[in-house]
Amino acid sequence: MKTALLIPVYNEAETLPFLWEETQAVLCGLPEHTFEYIFVNDGSTDSTLLQLKSLAQEHKNVKIISLSRNFGKEAALSAGLAEAAGAEAVIVLDADLQDPPELIPAFLQKYQEGFDIVYGVRADRTKDSWLKRLTARGFYKCYNALASRPLPENTGDCRLLSRRAVQAVLSLPERERFMKGLFNWVGFRAAGVPFSRQKRRAGKSKWTYWQLWNFALEGLTASSTLPLRLWTYCGFAVSGFAFVYALWVAAKKILYGNPVSGYASLMVAVLFFSGVQLISLGVIGEYLSRVFTEVKQRPLYIIDEKINC
Ligand code: UDP
Ligand code: MG
Repeated sequence: MKTALLIPVYNEAETLPFLWEETQAVLCGLPEHTFEYIFVNDGSTDSTLLQLKSLAQEHKNVKIISLSRNFGKEAALSAGLAEAAGAEAVIVLDADLQDPPELIPAFLQKYQEGFDIVYGVRADRTKDSWLKRLTARGFYKCYNALASRPLPENTGDCRLLSRRAVQAVLSLPERERFMKGLFNWVGFRAAGVPFSRQKRRAGKSKWTYWQLWNFALEGLTASSTLPLRLWTYCGFAVSGFAFVYALWVAAKKILYGNPVSGYASLMVAVLFFSGVQLISLGVIGEYLSRVFTEVKQRPLYIIDEKINC
């Protein structure tokens, strides 16, 4: 059985030697399978590409797709999946060993039991910072409350995909690619394998909290239109309240005359409703910007060179 290991790499010169050594050790224990590595170099500016090239020279089963600049992990994964489409199964791993290669045999075992998608579940995240755990938890709660198809909690991109699952993901044409959502959207029989999330072996995470926040927004807007529809209900509720209030103001005027007070309530109402309007405009803007990205129909990534492909 031919399995592709898809590994996106962006400035991972420090982690690559560990990755190679540890993954090879695991693969040696699986002689009944044929493996190929698909490294997607996502515009690294350190010696990552050089190291990959020397690996590819020695090992013909090491393929490299080098992108013309940094396009982000989601685009890198899409590039890798397109290349891996011929493999019977594709396993997506991070380069920093946070998703341990020891998961590979467990994934293959589940695949042979008939699952099309086998994802790693981060059962133990104690090695992540408390802030990361808290924000991740908040994201999953929010996402699952909004999206029509809930995401299994504490999963990442680390997973095995059967050939037909890969084809299904590749057939989705959108430009904004929240891969976890897409992997989940395609359906098929899926199973989780718990693992303990490791600390990054070397180097630094490529994500700042601001990028994570934007990524979360992308995921939410890509998977649900509820935030848009919410404003219709909000509008109805506010109009209902305003109508009752108007009746009360009119009744007061008829009963007690008009002593022209109410500066405070007027001010509060103006500020409150301008806030509500700006928020609703912002939500519409979020979706509009995504529609804009989609209609431009730009390619997801540009390939600079391919090696052993
Ligand atoms: N990565 C990538 N392009 C990027 C950012 C990250 O290909 O723009 C790769 C990175 O090399 C690693 C994986 O995506 O293999 C996960 O990145 P990272 O460890 O920084 O993310 P974290 O684990 O902190 O969520
Ligand atoms: Mg990492």
